[in-house]
Amino acid sequence: MGELRTSDLRIVREQLGREPTTPFTVVARCPDGHPLVIRNRPLDANGEPFPTLFWLTCRDAVRAVARLESQGWIGRFNERVEVDEEFSRALEQTHREYAVERARDLPESEGWGGVGGTRTGVKCLHAHYANHIAGGNDPVGAWVAQRVEPIHDERAGRVAAVDQGTNSIRLIVAEPRDRGEFQELARDMIITRLGQGVDETGRIEPGALERTARVLARYARRARALRAERIRVAATSAVRDADNREEFERAVRDLTGSDLEVITGEQEAALSFLGATVGLEAPSPFLVLDIGGGSTEFVLGNEEPIASVSTQMGSVRLTERFVRHDPPAPEELRQLELAVDGFLEEIEGEVPVGDARTLVAVAGTATTVQAISLGLDRYDPEQIHRTWLSRGEAERALLDLARMTTPERTALPVMAPGRGDVIVAGAAILVAVMRRFGFDRALVSETDILDGLAIEMLTGR
Ligand SMILES: [Zn+2]
Repeated sequence: MGELRTSDLRIVREQLGREPTTPFTVVARCPDGHPLVIRNRPLDANGEPFPTLFWLTCRDAVRAVARLESQGWIGRFNERVEVDEEFSRALEQTHREYAVERARDLPESEGWGGVGGTRTGVKCLHAHYANHIAGGNDPVGAWVAQRVEPIHDERAGRVAAVDQGTNSIRLIVAEPRDRGEFQELARDMIITRLGQGVDETGRIEPGALERTARVLARYARRARALRAERIRVAATSAVRDADNREEFERAVRDLTGSDLEVITGEQEAALSFLGATVGLEAPSPFLVLDIGGGSTEFVLGNEEPIASVSTQMGSVRLTERFVRHDPPAPEELRQLELAVDGFLEEIEGEVPVGDARTLVAVAGTATTVQAISLGLDRYDPEQIHRTWLSRGEAERALLDLARMTTPERTALPVMAPGRGDVIVAGAAILVAVMRRFGFDRALVSETDILDGLAIEMLTGR
């Protein structure tokens, strides 16, 4: 799930010179923040097939690529397809991978052809270049990049960070600005459930590893296409606990050229705190609450963390342990809440949570609950970031979610694919923390450990 802010809608409207006909998210941005490549849903607003997944929107980029097209390069590439078997095979593979990537949103769309809806050859250089930036393995797109880049002035020192959690794998690509701040060039999140079953078997499942490696490969190519000079991959909870974690470590090395950082609960907490509180103006001390799939972190601090604790309580773990029915049976929810309360009791002994004046809730559970309570008709980080969620609203959202089936939750317009079945457990943690520790409201933050990873790289902390 890429990003879509209200401001993006306005800018893309200007870039296209018309109303976009298809729902989309932003895959990559230019140095001043305007969308460079968007990802279209496979169906347009009228439900008609829309086979072009990645679309180049930056006007300067569109013009630069149009110049190549006017020089006759589409024809030259198609002549090359006829005579160069290796090139032709590589291009076929590009088309195939493109169809598979589109099918992630809509399985039946796999049969709609490859780049820009074409099955063989080259139809549109813009589509190939957009595919290259999005992380596609695309020889034509890579060739275009060499010819047209840089599109705008850019600063050196771009970095990319990947946060591998139990549930999701996330990417950020950032260009440095002054005082440790940065311009985001890409931000993405895909749920692959790497940690599925690790709690029971102690091992990462082959299917989960393959799903995750495929996403990581695309992330790494996108980071390189955006000229990140370094890619950092950090893994938390589930990977930390898996016996066969070296299999994932090998994949990371092969795909990114970097060694996987398996970070401790303490590092995870400090990074979360850094990302969540950078530039934050609210009464401190802050208590940063990071509800993950496999673990939940609590960090208390002012400018820097003072105390932190990481628990083995997460939305995926609790769902696997307690939930057998859909929707969850009242008794299952009661057992789950009892378990959460047990964890929270331990935490009180380790972190002086009562000192905190502001609860800062980060990560997908809290931001999704806030999106629901704000009644958003799509997930808009701009409308969620650093807004207040009252305890009453959180409780109401939990009640509503707990009454729905997984398909019903999954169908909510703000729900990320793959979160619908575990959000109840995550929301139960959020509500229990607010109740037990006496917070009437929480400040919900879109910035978290992922931003913390990037800030560390940019500032050399
Ligand atoms: Zn641009």
